[in-house]
Amino acid sequence: MEKLSKRLRQVASFVPKGARLLDVGSDHAYLPLYLLEQGTIHYAIAGEVVEGPYRSALSNVQKSSFASQIEVRLADGLAAFEAIDAIDTITICGMGGRLIASILDKGGKKLAKVNRLVLQPNNREDELRGWLSQSGYAILAEEILEEQGKIYEIIVAEKGQQALSDLDLRFGPFLRQAKSPVFLNKWENELKQLEQALAGIPDRHAETRSAIAQNIHAIKEILHES
Ligand code: SAM
Repeated sequence: MEKLSKRLRQVASFVPKGARLLDVGSDHAYLPLYLLEQGTIHYAIAGEVVEGPYRSALSNVQKSSFASQIEVRLADGLAAFEAIDAIDTITICGMGGRLIASILDKGGKKLAKVNRLVLQPNNREDELRGWLSQSGYAILAEEILEEQGKIYEIIVAEKGQQALSDLDLRFGPFLRQAKSPVFLNKWENELKQLEQALAGIPDRHAETRSAIAQNIHAIKEILHES
């Protein structure tokens, strides 16, 4: 198997040993294949809703030595598994945060037996954290990393209650505490862009200016909190 991206290796590190995994939007099935290869898991379903990526996943699985341990299913989101599959861990990576939240939301009661969600939104992390917190999940770990000039966040959640402030939703309860160099880089860049945008907006657009100013204020608060 090709070397797995740093992003997906980080995701893999949050999948518990012995998990029965569903990877939603599995594309080439790289993540479940890697976890099987590492011996972390012994069973996985690779779910894909689009024919082309589904075929790539199927072909990679058939070429591997794990064909008896991984099922590739053409399905929309959590429709890829049934109670009998005893899935206890779900990974959903490389999609927008809003789409990840809607996939989870559509799953409804199917999530009852799932212990852990490992999610890697490409954007709208705030909306995903909001869905988790309103749906009875607590975030237990977060990671932020840079790969090939892009910054990615990973959110790990399990059933539980957790009160998240607006700043937690936006910046991540763990990420804002840890303030890693990648985190600082992300928000310093965002701050610069917002300051440039604000400078170009005329005074008559008071509402837009005020929204951007609030945004800038929140980022400065996070960057300067100890
Ligand atoms: N998870 C892989 C990764 O992180 O590298 C692939 C990410 S790729 C950008 C997103 C994949 O999710 C696509 O192959 C797409 O077809 C699939 N996808 C999008 N919505 C889906 C859904 N509702 N159910 C299953 N797969 C979905």
